[in-house]
Amino acid sequence: MALEGHAIERAARLLSEARAAWALTGAGVSTASGIPDFRSPGGLWDLCDPEEVSSIGGFRRKPEAFYSFWMWRFRHMEQARPNAVHFLLAKLEGQGRMCGVITQNIDGLHRRAGSRTVFEVHGHVRSGACLLCRGAYPMAEIVHQTETQGIAQCPCGGLIKPDVVLFGEDLRPDFGRAWEETARADLLFVLGTSLTVWPVAGIVPRASALGATVIIANREPTPYDAQADVVLRGDLVETARLLGAALTVNGDA
Ligand code: ZN
Repeated sequence: MALEGHAIERAARLLSEARAAWALTGAGVSTASGIPDFRSPGGLWDLCDPEEVSSIGGFRRKPEAFYSFWMWRFRHMEQARPNAVHFLLAKLEGQGRMCGVITQNIDGLHRRAGSRTVFEVHGHVRSGACLLCRGAYPMAEIVHQTETQGIAQCPCGGLIKPDVVLFGEDLRPDFGRAWEETARADLLFVLGTSLTVWPVAGIVPRASALGATVIIANREPTPYDAQADVVLRGDLVETARLLGAALTVNGDA
């Protein structure tokens, strides 16, 4: 479906009127930066057993398999560059038009685009920690160890796990903060997520029930489209470009 001009105009107007807007983003925001959507059909999950290679149990059982599967992908994420969607959200925050971003992405691209308040509910690829002593390590050290010895290990003997949330683990404390903040949101701008991963998806019906305006921009339908005030179906980078232009025309960006 093509992007409709009036839907863009309406979304731009709602964003201009909002006083406590939050963005909620998922994998679709990063695909234009060359990072594959791990959960989409034809994505990585079709090639491997996610439970084994991406669960905390699998990590403890076969750390070598985890590192060999994930480390070069994490490194690829570190080398990716933010796209127009990341930059639009950072700009809106910088102008005081948006409170911040809640993201399911671990690539860190929102921060690198300039967003300052970013809740990374599934963690990030900047660092890791020892499972035994909790000692912190930069990702470069984990990558180096993995490349030279197959695994990353703390001098205390514990494995160093990147700070990403694996299956079987609790979400980061960022999720609790996002849950609290969005209770006070008057607008929730959902981008690039199919809203099927819980409990993150639950932020949307809750914010809507508490009175927030909801804008959903995603290529595919989501379970909450019917509750949304505006649905923008189309390429996200194009959506960001049109929205940025509409906000400029309206004198708001
Ligand atoms: Zn340790």
